[in-house]
Amino acid sequence: MPAVTDVVSFEPATGKELWRGKTGDVDEAVSRARRAWPDWASKPLATRVELVRRFANEVRKEHDKFAELIARETGKPLWEARTEVESVVAKVDISITAYAERTGQKKLDSALQGTAAVRHKPHGVMAVLGPYNFPAHLPNGHIVPALIAGNTVIFKPSEKTPAVGEFLVSCFHRAGISAAVVQCLQGGPAEGQALIAHRDIDGVLFTGSARAGIAINKKLAGNPGKIVALEMGGNNPIVVLDTPKIADAAILVVQSAFTTAGQRCTAARRLIVKASMYEPLLREVKALADRIIFGEPFADPAPFMGPVIDNQAADQLCESFLYLLSNGGKAIKHMQRPDDNLPFVSPAIIDVTTMNDRPDVELFGPLLQVVKVDTFDQAIAEANDTRFGLSASLIGGSPQDYNRFWANIRAGIVNWNRPTSGASSKAPFGGLGLSGNHRPSAFYAADYCAYPVASTEMDQPRASLGAGFRQERRRSPRPMAG
Ligand code: NAD
Repeated sequence: MPAVTDVVSFEPATGKELWRGKTGDVDEAVSRARRAWPDWASKPLATRVELVRRFANEVRKEHDKFAELIARETGKPLWEARTEVESVVAKVDISITAYAERTGQKKLDSALQGTAAVRHKPHGVMAVLGPYNFPAHLPNGHIVPALIAGNTVIFKPSEKTPAVGEFLVSCFHRAGISAAVVQCLQGGPAEGQALIAHRDIDGVLFTGSARAGIAINKKLAGNPGKIVALEMGGNNPIVVLDTPKIADAAILVVQSAFTTAGQRCTAARRLIVKASMYEPLLREVKALADRIIFGEPFADPAPFMGPVIDNQAADQLCESFLYLLSNGGKAIKHMQRPDDNLPFVSPAIIDVTTMNDRPDVELFGPLLQVVKVDTFDQAIAEANDTRFGLSASLIGGSPQDYNRFWANIRAGIVNWNRPTSGASSKAPFGGLGLSGNHRPSAFYAADYCAYPVASTEMDQPRASLGAGFRQERRRSPRPMAG
């Protein structure tokens, strides 16, 4: 087990220390969760539902405090942090409906042979590993369905957002869910590795980078009994065909690429644009990007985006921009770093059409690469030229074009005239390739939080013999003695 060390988070916008604590004890957390599981699993569903509803009320009560904490710890604007808190609340009702629709009880048929039924059971103790970009909403999207289904949960927040993780879990406790049923285990990758590999963990619900997701998959490859749901990143395309609505198209591109400072798994990384639209669209996109206010989360007027999570992420983004530039990319809008000691980076746009060997990696920040194409077929081929497959949007074109796009694009989220991001929690959410392992989250999270059990049942033993038995010999009555 990893040694106990400090976990410290800093406010990206100011560099000030925000939270300090210690890494958790994995063995102790797992054994507590295991002991608590039978009682939690055997509670009536109505009781668990009532408790998660109370959790939603606790979050509602703490709305402003919670949003402020998210804004401080991630650097995202306060208005956006508020929408994250609202998503945490909304997740509860959605998960209750999803549990009933996706994993409820079903009687299949009932005949002389008895009743056939399908019911679902919880897995046991689930490890939830969260990312920093939506440090409350995304782990909550695993935790709530897992609890409703009757699992106990150990949530390890990102080491970059421990305070939000702790706050989220405290709302479950205030709602009356015991401290053993849902726990917050602080730590980084070392604690994550120890947790997922623990023999008493029954499932791993992960949201984060493809790098970490692949490491988890490899580590658990010899352990098929653990359910593993991997929600990973993307290298998402937004394709623009002919449309007279250039201003709207530009807004959709800018929102897709730069909301949350580009730190969304569904953010558009690649703008693939038909040559006929290139000049007018890029003029508009650049003009809009120039108007983006990026600043600290509580600034007035409110910024569109804040800093990225830390200086290391900002350094990597600036290096990536320079790499693209020095390998054939043409800057449309340079990435700027106004203060080397803080992770604010400006939105950047670079044309990589003539670049050979474009790196197929997720550049997790406000950096949009542009590729010019002549035909729709080229656009689809270009859009699919990635190992990832999370989200993809088509802007413009006809209904027939959209049908073709939908049929040919490799992604779990496919949109038309909408941004690549901003998916609904009422739909499944997941991707292909390096973006996920076919266990979509959001509405379908219910599926990986419980497993189906098929039964045929009769209230009394009743059976008759079929073919393959010799005729029963009639036993002659024994002569009576005497
Ligand atoms: P990350 O992969 O660095 O970390 C995610 C979590 O996994 C953290 O809690 C971390 O401590 C833990 N971890 C890291 N390495 C581990 C290992 N080897 N074993 C076990 N645990 C490990 O991700 P991040 O940088 O916090 O978040 C950003 C990434 O998350 C981006 O790639 C983004 O696209 C992705 N993301 C995906 C979705 C989705 O739903 N598909 C949503 C949000 C973010």
